[in-house]
Amino acid sequence: MDNLILRIAVPSPLHRSFDYLQPADADPAVLQPGIRLRIPFGRRTVIGVLLAVGNESEIDRQRLKPAQQVLDETPVISRDVMAMVQWASDYYHYPIGDAFSAALPALLRRGQQPLAAGASAWRITPAGQAIDTRTLSRAPRQAGVLALLGAHLQGVHRSAIDVPASVLRALADKGWIETCRLHEPHAEHSIVPSAHTLNPAQQLAVDAILAHMDRFTPFLLAGVTGSGKTEVYLELIETTLACEQQALLLVPEIGLTPQLLARFQRRFQVPLALLHSALTDHERLAAWQLARSGEAPIIIGTRSAIFTPMARPGLIVVDEEHDASLKQQDGFRYSARDLAVWRARQLNIPVVLGSATPSLESLLNVEQGRYRQLDLPERTGVAVQPTYRVLDVRKQPLEDGLSRPLLQRIREHLDAGNQVLLFLNRRGFAPTLMCYDCDWVAECKRCDARMTWHQHDQLLHCHHCGSQRPVDSICPKCQGSDLHPQGQGTERVEQALAAHFPDVKRVRIDRDTTRRKGELDRLLQQARHGEGRLLLGTQMLAKGHHFPNVTLVGILDADHGLFSTDFRASERMAQLIVQVAGRAGRHERPGEVIIQTCHPEHPLLQLLINQGYPAFARAALAERREARMPPATAMVLLRAEAPAAATAMGFLDAVAARINATGNRAVEVWGPVPATMERRAGRYRAQLVLQSEQRGELQRLLGSLVRQLETTKEARRVRWSVDVDPADTY
Ligand code: ADP
Ligand code: ZN
Ligand code: ZN
Repeated sequence: MDNLILRIAVPSPLHRSFDYLQPADADPAVLQPGIRLRIPFGRRTVIGVLLAVGNESEIDRQRLKPAQQVLDETPVISRDVMAMVQWASDYYHYPIGDAFSAALPALLRRGQQPLAAGASAWRITPAGQAIDTRTLSRAPRQAGVLALLGAHLQGVHRSAIDVPASVLRALADKGWIETCRLHEPHAEHSIVPSAHTLNPAQQLAVDAILAHMDRFTPFLLAGVTGSGKTEVYLELIETTLACEQQALLLVPEIGLTPQLLARFQRRFQVPLALLHSALTDHERLAAWQLARSGEAPIIIGTRSAIFTPMARPGLIVVDEEHDASLKQQDGFRYSARDLAVWRARQLNIPVVLGSATPSLESLLNVEQGRYRQLDLPERTGVAVQPTYRVLDVRKQPLEDGLSRPLLQRIREHLDAGNQVLLFLNRRGFAPTLMCYDCDWVAECKRCDARMTWHQHDQLLHCHHCGSQRPVDSICPKCQGSDLHPQGQGTERVEQALAAHFPDVKRVRIDRDTTRRKGELDRLLQQARHGEGRLLLGTQMLAKGHHFPNVTLVGILDADHGLFSTDFRASERMAQLIVQVAGRAGRHERPGEVIIQTCHPEHPLLQLLINQGYPAFARAALAERREARMPPATAMVLLRAEAPAAATAMGFLDAVAARINATGNRAVEVWGPVPATMERRAGRYRAQLVLQSEQRGELQRLLGSLVRQLETTKEARRVRWSVDVDPADTY
């Protein structure tokens, strides 16, 4: 019999797969798509994923090399994930091998074996129980594990034991601990019924979705903040578990809060597989394994969790489906939301996209009959929607970004014993340092961006490339010394608040105050339990949290989003305003939202305030149609960067010429233009926009373009990338 030919995805930046002969000693039965193989590639040996087995190759058999070694007896990647990664590699024009690398946990990428199913938990042995952990003072991590396992005699999942494998191995070698299979409790006994009776809108939504649990149906759950969307997810997941299936919940990067997890753990006493960016490689593999084996009936994760294989998939939920963090912004630029819908279709299961502020993309899908919209128009219980007030700050003297009327209202709400939340999406002390003599401003030497003054370390920081330098005391341009911080960051506002309200405990939440592990949780606790009464922060504070006693929300600067070059800026600003406003008055006490702006008459802002997000979204969608922008059309961004501006622009000019030469009338080409921030980290960036009302045409054109570019000389002088359905156009 002829040697089989293996088509393999090889980690490489090339937009193609590679053919190999089967390894000499391989059993053809194990050659299933989704297994990993060790293969020679150039002068290296790498690990690839088997895509298909056949008898033909475009390359002469004699020239094909045999694969060296089969690494798996059964596929590590499930069939639906295999198909999804291949589809996504095509759709996003990202090299297939690198796409698989993004989809696999790092340890598997490096050839490690996944743990045998069921072996992903550890328990203490009788010998281990007899050990006095005080005698282990020289091995504190071993002592910690023994204490943990001693407290949970039935065993603890590997993912919950925060030590490297070597520590566990050392303990196992002494016979003190052993692997075990966690008894999978029967679903019914492990679900704690909800404390709430669903309200009629929730019940309608749940019923509508439950009626379609056996087939692909995409739902948009549009529920105002605090309307009980999460409660709906929990209810649906309960049914999923009762049917012995698994549910996957995707959340934005900052949505995976201890609060959310606690809610799930209260309701479901089952293993949860958690996948997020802060995991160690071991933790990630362990969680991935729990999902793949089916041991964890619930998988909760951020963006990349969409690639997690599931043994018994039954439901996919995407929370905050509008959130930009669901789209990867570099490398493999996939949208986890869109992949979720694709995967659900392929698995023939329902998918629920939830949001208080749905994306225009999803609203258009509803309009065109592809998604079904379910509404939760009211807040649960007694909570009512907050009232909005637009504060024209052109006529107000601002003190460190705070207007007098806002300060007045803050005082009144605090005096009434309530909490106040202030939102400013800018960290640091001041967004720039300025010379009052000559108007010089401190700029980054590597980016077209201003340096942000941070007071805590007395340094100027660039938020784009991370460079730092001491705060200038003398103007480098005119040698004057009249240098002042301009504008406000959270650090500066906090100082101002300290001066105005010295006796009130403040909680500031932004990237700078939460760098240390556990700090975010600690600050959120203080905010939630009312210990901190003045809450101030960036979007880390704004989304998803429940602060029942917040009655006043102040949005310190709404203008940033209203006038930006990005076509999605006003949509994002509206979503942020609604999300931040949603933190107010979630309890009996009614909430008030004050928005400081220099453009109180802005039509979209007015529409949002007076008629709400749905009216805003309708108008914004109409504008996009008018302007023929996404989602009314398909858009692709070709980006290039190089050490010299002319190189990046020249490359894109050549690309534009290539496209125009095809004579394809269905695709419009705009640019190239330098990026809004042309220079970043010392490299010049430019972009070319491709747009079409026929997505298929655009995709075909890109497919051949990308293959051509791979082999052209000009492409080697730049770093270029394709961004399909870009989340931003900076
Ligand atoms: P969302 O996800 O839309 O922000 P949640 O599901 O978190 O809303 O619900 C908001 C609050 O209302 C939570 O404290 C939740 O426990 C509570 N809640 C949800 N559904 C109900 C209900 N049917 N009856 C009473 N309280 C509810
Ligand atoms: Zn000067
Ligand atoms: Zn910089």
